[in-house]
Amino acid sequence: MAEIPNKFDVIVIGAGPAGSASAYYLATKGFKVLMLERGRSPGSKNVFGGRVYVAPLREIFSDFEKTAPIHRWVTRERMSFMYGNELVSLDYEGNDHKSFTTYLSQLVAWMALKAETAGVSIVNDITVTGLLKEGNKVIGIKSGNESVKADVVIDAEGVNRLVLESAGTVPPLKPSNVALGVKEVVKVNPEVLANEFGLGDGEGMAWSLMGDVTSGLPGGGFIYTNKDSVSIGLVMLLDNAISGANDEVYRYVERLKAHPKLNKYFKDSRIMEYSAHLIPEDVWSLRPPKLAYDGLLIAGDAAGFLLNLGYTYRGVDFAAYSGYLAGKAIEQAHELGGMSAINLAAYPKLLDQSFIMKNLKRFNGTNKLMHNRRLFTAYPAMMVSLMKRIYSLDYESQKIFNTVLASAKENGVGPFTLISDGIEVIRYL
Ligand SMILES: Cc1cc2nc3c(=O)[nH]c(=O)nc-3n(C[C@H](O)[C@H](O)[C@H](O)COP(=O)(O)OP(=O)(O)OC[C@H]3O[C@@H](n4cnc5c(N)ncnc54)[C@H](O)[C@@H]3O)c2cc1C
Repeated sequence: MAEIPNKFDVIVIGAGPAGSASAYYLATKGFKVLMLERGRSPGSKNVFGGRVYVAPLREIFSDFEKTAPIHRWVTRERMSFMYGNELVSLDYEGNDHKSFTTYLSQLVAWMALKAETAGVSIVNDITVTGLLKEGNKVIGIKSGNESVKADVVIDAEGVNRLVLESAGTVPPLKPSNVALGVKEVVKVNPEVLANEFGLGDGEGMAWSLMGDVTSGLPGGGFIYTNKDSVSIGLVMLLDNAISGANDEVYRYVERLKAHPKLNKYFKDSRIMEYSAHLIPEDVWSLRPPKLAYDGLLIAGDAAGFLLNLGYTYRGVDFAAYSGYLAGKAIEQAHELGGMSAINLAAYPKLLDQSFIMKNLKRFNGTNKLMHNRRLFTAYPAMMVSLMKRIYSLDYESQKIFNTVLASAKENGVGPFTLISDGIEVIRYL
């Protein structure tokens, strides 16, 4: 770090979506910004499933659609319930360009390049080890024995947030606060994308799976189609993965690819990449006591800004937008005369007015559904049994209502449990 000037307006810890978006915004407003990334290059350490919602990114980067690495627009959504060798799927086909698939490594590299082009100094291969403080005020960062000063630091270090932990700002992560995600990117034949997934040029599929995919453990699987590859993986609550997984977690992904109803999508495929990462899950417990301190703002996964609705994850757009709002708050604090917690209080206010906090509040409690095991065991089995009873018959057809009750009973779910679980799902989702 010797050649780095010793004072910046802003230091950003982590060049992920949150860090890169904040650094980009601030550089376009004339701030002198240093962004530090522990990976070899921006994007090299970032992991996600495969789909990003575009609207917030369009707002941050006006030329987003022209130059960003968009692989395919999601035009097909599929949700499948798996039980044994069978599955029941809901399929939706649209064409409204609201979300796209990509590699996060490419998207983050693109965002960081935008930041660098706007004037941000990026230093890779550097791990920030602590916050530099004067009393309670953050005045820079430490990396080993070295330090760099800044008027304000944006912590965008992601879910592990070891820097915040070492500064005593947040407690250590608990396994019950996070989920474990594992993922493979596999190269597939173009004909598989066209014929098996049924996708035309530029069209993509986002597919979520529940049930036997995690052997009934709370969590689910995902499949996303990229330009010429497929991302496949699953997410499980970490404490359940530790105590309940009956195999190495990556083997669940192998089994998913080999499933009799899925293997045609992975015929002759070749693994290009394998990754694993934690994901904020119990986001309200993860939330730091404050988001704005004297000289410090917290953005992205480090602040617990992620929405998991079971059928979709929103982390990248939440992270990028929170970084962008951190940038706006710093701009306002600068006009007010300095980076005190009071002047930076615009940040939580901007977040409250934005889709981020509106969504997190609207879906507060959704993670409680993860603790209802029936959603991952009995109900996927019931969906399969229901479809079988409706469609696979010889002579007599049954009334749907009776068939629902019979399928529920077959899977150990009585009518009252069915109703109360139904109400719980409707209430939270
Ligand atoms: C398996 C999985 C599937 C997911 N699926 C989706 C999805 O489909 N769609 C979606 O929108 N979101 C998804 N997410 C969530 C999404 O990936 C995250 O919410 C998002 O990446 C958070 O961005 P961030 O910038 O806050 O953190 P990160 O992306 O984690 O970036 C943090 C950066 O900080 C760097 N860093 C960390 N510590 C230090 C340090 N001490 N010094 C210097 N640098 C440091 C890291 O190397 C990293 O580059 C998924 C996540 C996982 C794990």
